[in-house]
Amino acid sequence: MAILQRTEAEARAALIEVTSYDVDLDLDRGDTEFGSVTTIRFSARQPGESTFLDLKAARVGSITLNGTAVDPAAIDDGRVTLTDLAADNEVHVAATMSYSRDGEGLHRAVDPEDGKAYVYGMSFMDAAPRMYACFDQPDLKAPYDVRVRAPQDWVVAGNGDATRTAPGEWTLATTKPIATYFFTVCAGPYATVTDEHDGIHLEVHVRAALAKELDEQAPDIFQVTKQSFDHYHRLFGVRYPWGDYHQFFVPEFNAGAMENPGCVTFRDTMIMRGTLAPDHLLSRANTIAHEMAHMWFGDLVTLRWWDDLWLNESFAEYMAGRAVEEATDHDESRIAFSAQRKTWGYAADRAPSTHPIAGSPAPDALSALTNFDGISYAKGASALAQLVLYVGDDAFVAGVRDYLSRHAFGNATLADFLGAMEKASGRDLTQWSEQWLRTSGADVLQVHTETDGDTVAEAELRRTPPAGHPADRPHVLDVAGYTDGAQIWRTQVEAAADVTPLGELTGREVPQILLPNASDETWAQVALDTASLEALRTGLRTLPDSGTRAAAWSALLNGMLTGGVDPRLVRDSVLDFWPAETSFTLLAYVASQSRGALLGGYLPPDESTAAAQAFDDAARTMLAADDVSLPAGIAAATMVAHTTHDEATLRDWADGRHTPAALEGDPDFRWLAIRRLCTLGALTAADVDSHLAQDRSMSAVLDGLTAKASIPTQDAKEWAWHQVFGGQQLSNYEAGAVLGGIFRPSQIDLVRPYVARYFAQVGSLAQTFGGMPAEQLTRAGFPHVVVEPATLEAARAAIDGEGLSAGIRRALIDQTAALEERITSRRRYFPDSL
Ligand SMILES: [Zn+2]
Repeated sequence: MAILQRTEAEARAALIEVTSYDVDLDLDRGDTEFGSVTTIRFSARQPGESTFLDLKAARVGSITLNGTAVDPAAIDDGRVTLTDLAADNEVHVAATMSYSRDGEGLHRAVDPEDGKAYVYGMSFMDAAPRMYACFDQPDLKAPYDVRVRAPQDWVVAGNGDATRTAPGEWTLATTKPIATYFFTVCAGPYATVTDEHDGIHLEVHVRAALAKELDEQAPDIFQVTKQSFDHYHRLFGVRYPWGDYHQFFVPEFNAGAMENPGCVTFRDTMIMRGTLAPDHLLSRANTIAHEMAHMWFGDLVTLRWWDDLWLNESFAEYMAGRAVEEATDHDESRIAFSAQRKTWGYAADRAPSTHPIAGSPAPDALSALTNFDGISYAKGASALAQLVLYVGDDAFVAGVRDYLSRHAFGNATLADFLGAMEKASGRDLTQWSEQWLRTSGADVLQVHTETDGDTVAEAELRRTPPAGHPADRPHVLDVAGYTDGAQIWRTQVEAAADVTPLGELTGREVPQILLPNASDETWAQVALDTASLEALRTGLRTLPDSGTRAAAWSALLNGMLTGGVDPRLVRDSVLDFWPAETSFTLLAYVASQSRGALLGGYLPPDESTAAAQAFDDAARTMLAADDVSLPAGIAAATMVAHTTHDEATLRDWADGRHTPAALEGDPDFRWLAIRRLCTLGALTAADVDSHLAQDRSMSAVLDGLTAKASIPTQDAKEWAWHQVFGGQQLSNYEAGAVLGGIFRPSQIDLVRPYVARYFAQVGSLAQTFGGMPAEQLTRAGFPHVVVEPATLEAARAAIDGEGLSAGIRRALIDQTAALEERITSRRRYFPDSL
């Protein structure tokens, strides 16, 4: 299919203006196809000219332009050429479309538990024409009238308020102008919970199989939603404009969520089946608030072209963090941002594919998508937080209000946003935005001290821009010193040069741990001095608050990832501080990051086995404590289920016996134990099938696929490989589940032959899956755990190969960079292991 070029979009927007869409969908035509009839009214500024319509149909019944038939054979590569336009036009398209299984277009999933089918529409970012004929670009906004025919027991909702007019017949109210990429319809026998707040009708929906869980969790979802509405109404000064607010938790969703006006879609794993883990609740609250921020920023004011996609996400990420912290009952929002989101963003910013936050050329729609990464979200949000420190919060909020009201229901660019900020603050932001938004990579920040006995004689903050990416970023941050667990001093610094003298530290006591960016306010790689690093081996747990521990953990982890910190020091520190940690966010993320990095390749196999044993022991000690908290119990039990060789315990847990209290009755935890048993070779595929006979839920089926692919036999790996690359019709989630089981760190000799096969066949994922799922599957299947120079060579050769889609190539580049970091660290700290 043709990919829309920016120049084409500009020409089309210059020529036409869309007045309205009228869409009729027939979802009652069986399992594979649906009917789609679209009427678009639009005007042309130069009558007589031609343009094109986007349409990705299975079959086209008829196309007419101003009453005259257009030959359906004129469709080329997903485009219908419309010639000899009048001043006012009406184009009518009747077509049959295919349901998708890759999470884009109108996705249809069947719940294996009860056989019920669910559909949801995902138009982002170029999938709208898989549902209806349209001029698919973000700056041709128009109001929509939508009617849907569906099986009689289905619930239907979309962007406009839905009314059931007859059994199986639904009409959605005319929307305000929206962009094509926000179009959605969600339909199926969804379970629904309703509420009301401040004149806004609220509905939350999920698969019927999760109805009980939704009933239990809806109060939290509604509360976060209401608190966020109040917060944004206060902050933005513009009321939510999209009518009813539906939140659909849908199956097999690729992203976390999508901000369709009035009808947000989320991945349904956010409705938890077992224990309500506080880190998952926080993450869900954050996603809810994030999508709500988009109702204004993205939906009400829409980017003109995809090169400003980052601004949508940076803004929503920043605003969600703020809403959750200031307006909801969920704590630790900032810690999660430090420990999880920024780690993701720093990795993207170190990769060879790094790019400026803004201004990356986006010559076509899909090339913008490849830059839609941790830089767009976490780094962009950090830059906005620095902007707030730079101009002051009052000016920032005034600028946002001006921007939203000035461009409501229209489109805007970065220049419009910065213009509003400059007007509100009275400051020229040319230099600031040039240095923060148009440069790449993270500066390294380090405090250098000269000492005189126990006191600081001289100190300075050194800022080193990343090699090959010159920049002159001004940072606002604080530097703090800690001794015996107490903060002995703290100072706020504006670092606008490569060397900033810290005269205020002269005469202060030399601390045991000196921590730059102690409140984690800026975006930088923190290089700790040798003494502070060594002190963190047993001192991290003494740091006085969880925010500081998160900042120290970030410095330690990222220091290891970039080769500056010995993985053994990180291991020692984790074993010392993690079991005593009280922050639920750190309990969860330190555990998963340690497993992923330390056990996933930073430690060589023998060291990794010993470390896994040590984590297992530490976690068992935590579980044995009388007063173990819920978050500590979850983190510890999860750690054991990932690391232990104790098959008897795992078999108990897999069967739901003697489960740690924190995870009693949690089906996902049972599957974790089943997967571990499979990885150890203690269960067969037939054993997995017996477990599946007892739990036939959608998530169990996925867990079962991962478990079977994890079995350490040639047969199991070959079966798994055939599932993904042998022409089987797997959904996006099924393929991801299988790929997640193939390369296990403890099975390197067995899976080594699949490294070459992965690189030979990964490109074929683009034949079955759309842009985002293909990229995600490439990441999920990458053989990071085979930390060997030969893997690196094979990866580089694959990147240079022909015929890869942009998304797959980009995923390979990033994953290869991460593998290279592992190898660099190994060469430095374990030279004999390669
Ligand atoms: Zn977003």
